Amino acid sequence: MAARPNGWNWRLLAFLAAALAALATAFGFFLTPEGAANRGDDAIANGIMANDRLDPAAWRDDSLTIATLGHATLLMDFMGVRVITDPTLFNRIGLAVGPLFTIGPRRLTPPPLRPNQIGGIDVILVTHAHMDHLDLPSLDALPKTAAVVACSGCAALIRPLGFADVRELKWGESTDVRGLTVTALPARHWGRRWPPFGRSYGYNSYLIVRHRRRMLLACDTAYTNALDVVRENPPDVAAFSIGAYDPWIWNHADPEQVWKMFEATGARFLIPIHWGTFRLSKEPVNEPMRRLLSAAGAHDDQIVLRQIGEAWTLPRTSPAAAARRSVP
Ligand SMILES: [Zn+2]
Ligand SMILES: [Zn+2]
Repeated sequence: MAARPNGWNWRLLAFLAAALAALATAFGFFLTPEGAANRGDDAIANGIMANDRLDPAAWRDDSLTIATLGHATLLMDFMGVRVITDPTLFNRIGLAVGPLFTIGPRRLTPPPLRPNQIGGIDVILVTHAHMDHLDLPSLDALPKTAAVVACSGCAALIRPLGFADVRELKWGESTDVRGLTVTALPARHWGRRWPPFGRSYGYNSYLIVRHRRRMLLACDTAYTNALDVVRENPPDVAAFSIGAYDPWIWNHADPEQVWKMFEATGARFLIPIHWGTFRLSKEPVNEPMRRLLSAAGAHDDQIVLRQIGEAWTLPRTSPAAAARRSVP
């Protein structure tokens, strides 16, 4: 005899329906096979995608090399330690329904590298649990030997994938992986994965340091002075999310605000992320970069990695690094 659904089952179904409705509202609604051809052509025509092929195997271990893989995903050789941030490696983000379907936005620009082209990874950094940052299929495609440094509460989402070394950081806490020191810093954002229901997770910016090279990876954030603290010892480079501000300005800074926050950190170079990859908001795909360059004015040469699929190496003559080296 078929069992009649009990109250718990009904509550679960109601929760799933509400969660799907919330996701659909937040992201717009799509449901097509994961393997369907992506629509990168528009983005390429608009100059978002770099033409050069990335070759991480050729990167030098005595430098800081950073590549943009789209959205908030940066692949780095951080002075010999391989790091990837908020990996989104497939054609969609959102809710995976079995191996073939994902409900959520589709990429506008194709992933510059397939997972098997990424190579070894020592550290995976996860800033927060939003679907466009903590993407379970992408994490699952990476080597399980990597240490994962994640937001508070996020280990419960990541450990079941098979990662043995998952470390949660709260603001102000640090951890060390192979000589790479990662410190969690604040942001003005929010952490619920299934808005408006479900639990709240942490959300971290990170200061990443190895061999005197310093990088700030800002979490998605509204305009804040909470990251100005790094100015005491300015990072060489800072990465900030520049998109998804219309209408989400109360938790995503607009490009002019990003430029102000970047200047307040004292960093020499700015890497713009979180644009040109997934449509999460109403502003035109190319607008964030255009406005950022305009906000920078005569200082726009400080903005590096302006295209997705591009790699850049911190110049050895970085004045910030040189000044620090001269300090006994
Ligand atoms: Zn977010
Ligand atoms: Zn985001």
